Amino acid sequence: MAPMYIVMLGPPGAGKGTQAKKLAEALNLVHVSTGDLFRENLKNETPLGQLAQQYMNKGELVPDDVTVAMVEERFARPDCEKGAVLDGFPRTPAQAEALESLLAKFDSDVKVVPFIKVPDDILVERLSGRWMSNSGRVYHEKYNPPLVKWIDDIDGSQLYQRDDDRPDTVRHRIEVYNEQTAPLINYYRDKGLLAEIDGTQPIEDVFQAIMESVKEG
Ligand code: ADP
Ligand code: ADP
Repeated sequence: MAPMYIVMLGPPGAGKGTQAKKLAEALNLVHVSTGDLFRENLKNETPLGQLAQQYMNKGELVPDDVTVAMVEERFARPDCEKGAVLDGFPRTPAQAEALESLLAKFDSDVKVVPFIKVPDDILVERLSGRWMSNSGRVYHEKYNPPLVKWIDDIDGSQLYQRDDDRPDTVRHRIEVYNEQTAPLINYYRDKGLLAEIDGTQPIEDVFQAIMESVKEG
């Protein structure tokens, strides 16, 4: 079977990570999150992590060339052979074009782009209550609480809040999204790949809607 690549699109806090994780499990694909990859580099204090940190702390995007090189390296690992659910990439038109060139090398293309729509006021509330796990699982203090406060259900690790989930940084990230990432909505709509999903529904309902879009895509 040809590899299948799915691009999750939506503003910060829309639920891309939550849904990408579930989708990857359901379809037996890998979940590739550029945010997670940058945070992993940051934790390991690599030069890439140190560079990325300057942008992430301010809620700005890491430069395209750096981001694309990191994704290219990730795609080269054998677990990407069957395809991937991409979360947080592409985030600019230049990244979208770079993705197409990368996938063309595998004789592949983006299959569908679920676009998770959520109004700004809800985004701020979601991000301020977001609890992260190093496993890539995402919790919310109110909407998706772990069984035990601040503890990952599966591996028992300590949950944390992201530095860039402070309300001032969140507002700037939403602006950056509107300026630099929102043009991808029309980009993918013009290609007939966009599937608009109501992201204000409960997590399971959003998931069902995304699964439908993948079957139809
Ligand atoms: P993104 O990757 O788009 O930034 P996340 O998946 O990290 O978004 O979700 C942001 C926060 O909102 C998390 O705390 C998550 O648990 C919560 N969340 C995700 N989807 C929903 C939903 N449908 N309803 C309520 N809360 C949600
Ligand atoms: P969210 O889940 O809230 O949308 P991410 O975890 O995807 O946030 O990204 C966190 C930060 O990592 C971004 O604010 C940005 O600084 C950086 N980042 C992640 N993906 C990209 C990308 N594709 N291009 C540039 N910067 C990125």
